[in-house]
Amino acid sequence: VARLLVVEDDETIGDALHTSLRSHGYEVRWERTGRGALAAVAGPVDLVLLDLGLPDLDGVEVCRRLRALLPSAVLVMLTARTEEMDVVVGLEAGADDYLTKPVRLAELHARIRAHLRRDSASFAGDVSAVPIGDLLVDPAARRVTLAGAEVVMRAKEFDLLARLAAEPDRAVSRETLMADVWDENWFGSTKTLDVHVAAVRRKLAEAADSTRRRVPAIVTLRGHGYRLETPTGSGEG
Ligand code: CA
Repeated sequence: VARLLVVEDDETIGDALHTSLRSHGYEVRWERTGRGALAAVAGPVDLVLLDLGLPDLDGVEVCRRLRALLPSAVLVMLTARTEEMDVVVGLEAGADDYLTKPVRLAELHARIRAHLRRDSASFAGDVSAVPIGDLLVDPAARRVTLAGAEVVMRAKEFDLLARLAAEPDRAVSRETLMADVWDENWFGSTKTLDVHVAAVRRKLAEAADSTRRRVPAIVTLRGHGYRLETPTGSGEG
């Protein structure tokens, strides 16, 4: 059973979320403040729904601290339309996704299911490890290494890289990535895809710096999607 933490100070919204999530079989804890949320994550949490407008602490700051405390949990922000800027900052602060209020429950449940799906088994990729230059993407072990050094990825970052690595040097459309990595019934914005691509790029660049090896580039194909490009030549230059 997935353990969810709802952080929402609005009684009506919080009660609706709490009730609906419990009726879908999740174990749900509801906190009404940022401080309450930070205290609640002493126990195991798989997914957090975080309202950005909290009475005591700045929502983005709570997001940043929750990310540090819960490196592998899924963080979904709940935001009012007027908080668009906070969404971008929140995604950069470690959130995985966001939902705009008023939250539609069907969308909420679809997103939660997509985020909690532990593997990208829906795409018919080979599960054998794929070497791309010095980078090794190993779906069976869910591990990425560069010249033997581990590159630590979060769950969806790994799924995204593995999906691109399944077809190196070939264009993969945004729709395909959203369907294979998240869910075929994904609702709404795909900003979350770009944020995850940015995170994977950053981690690969850091690994390249520390190992002095070359990594494949994730090339943006405007109006289409992305392509993972094998580095020309290999090893240290
Ligand atoms: Ca609020």
